[in-house]
Amino acid sequence: MPELPEAETIARGLSNQLVGWEITGVKNLVPALRNPLNLRKLQKDLVGAKVTEVTRRGKGIIVKLENGKAVLMQLGMTGACRICPTGTKLLKHERLIFHLDNGLDWRYEDIRKFGNVQSFTFGDENDTPEFLRSLGVEPLGEDFSGKFLFERTRKRICAVKELLLNQKIVAGIGNIYVSELLYRAKVRPQREAGTVTRREADLIVDETKSVLLESIAAGGTTISDYKALDGTAGKFEQDLRVYGKAGLACAKCGKLIEKITIGGRSTFYCPRCQR
Ligand SMILES: [Zn+2]
Repeated sequence: MPELPEAETIARGLSNQLVGWEITGVKNLVPALRNPLNLRKLQKDLVGAKVTEVTRRGKGIIVKLENGKAVLMQLGMTGACRICPTGTKLLKHERLIFHLDNGLDWRYEDIRKFGNVQSFTFGDENDTPEFLRSLGVEPLGEDFSGKFLFERTRKRICAVKELLLNQKIVAGIGNIYVSELLYRAKVRPQREAGTVTRREADLIVDETKSVLLESIAAGGTTISDYKALDGTAGKFEQDLRVYGKAGLACAKCGKLIEKITIGGRSTFYCPRCQR
């Protein structure tokens, strides 16, 4: 499932390919992804406008246009994009096509259809998707500090892992990176959030930033279906230290990595290195 580094990689790829070009048409190949696709709104908002910028918020990609409109693209479990010449044979799971005035298509592919694509007026609170309105701080931004995390963990009885996955607190961390950053910060994922010390909060924040930046530099992590715009796989998978490694030896201490379930999701940690 794409998390922040994967969304960032795709956003950067889209920025290179879309900025300066006009959207000349929008076509859907399915009636709905996670939500019904509002094709008429997409066409009304986007057709005839040039793309000015592609950014990211949390795991969401935002394509901005010169007319003040924008497209929010959430990749869900299996969302991906590609750029190809108009008329290129459709791939089986392509769901939405944006035609560009340079003879290319920007296509959205999604095997499981848990993604979301919608247009809105950028900066208009009433038209802004709920996902964007409720998002917490960006983990790579200055707002995500040890002080911030420490304050947010006070009196919280959920596991620290669950708190870090709460997109309304901090946006973009998912199941893979949360195991990795807690391993690096030497904090057990099942620890009650309220027991995290101020020093541990600093460490968690530092390690969150490093693991995300390292992964962005490697083009993300490919677990199952993620791929960058050019179809290449992310290379960060080889740098994962605990995720998916249950029963293998911890690289630091040799103890076997354990797998538990928190909030219904697989969680990996070293019982010796993490406290
Ligand atoms: Zn260890």
